[in-house]
Amino acid sequence: PPDVEQLGRSSWTLLHTIAATYPAEATPTQQEEMKTFMRIFAKIYPCWSCAEDFRAWMSKPENDVSKYVQGQKTFGKWLCDAHNDVNVKLGKKPFDCSKWEERWITGGEG
Ligand code: FAD
Repeated sequence: PPDVEQLGRSSWTLLHTIAATYPAEATPTQQEEMKTFMRIFAKIYPCWSCAEDFRAWMSKPENDVSKYVQGQKTFGKWLCDAHNDVNVKLGKKPFDCSKWEERWITGGEG
């Protein structure tokens, strides 16, 4: 089975980097594509219990991805909140989402 920690770090890097390159104002097509991508990602993520919990988080009305795909700011915040849900579940400190841009766009590692 895949190494859940290694897979997680790589996957969050991919997801946050996708958000970091998502347009400030996404077109309707881009919004559709992002919703579809996230819904399929949450089905095929190869840590099944992780995927199940992620789908449960996504299915709450306040976390409905379709409300957050207008552009980079909203999508980046949504992903940060999703990641924090996992951080808290694993007993880690939540990440300060006001530092999301610094971590994933302007800054480097850290
Ligand atoms: P990671 O949590 O992988 O984070 C990598 C880097 O991202 C951090 O060093 C930090 O710089 C930055 N970061 C941290 N939090 C945020 C944030 N909120 N927003 C933006 N950047 C941030 N593991 C399990 O054991 N059980 C699970 O149920 C589980 N579910 C997961 C669901 C998904 C969708 C994904 C992608 C991963 C899941 N994981 C799960 C893996 C877990 O989230 C971690 O990736 C793994 O534990 C390694 O953690 P880490 O401390 O190295 O840093």
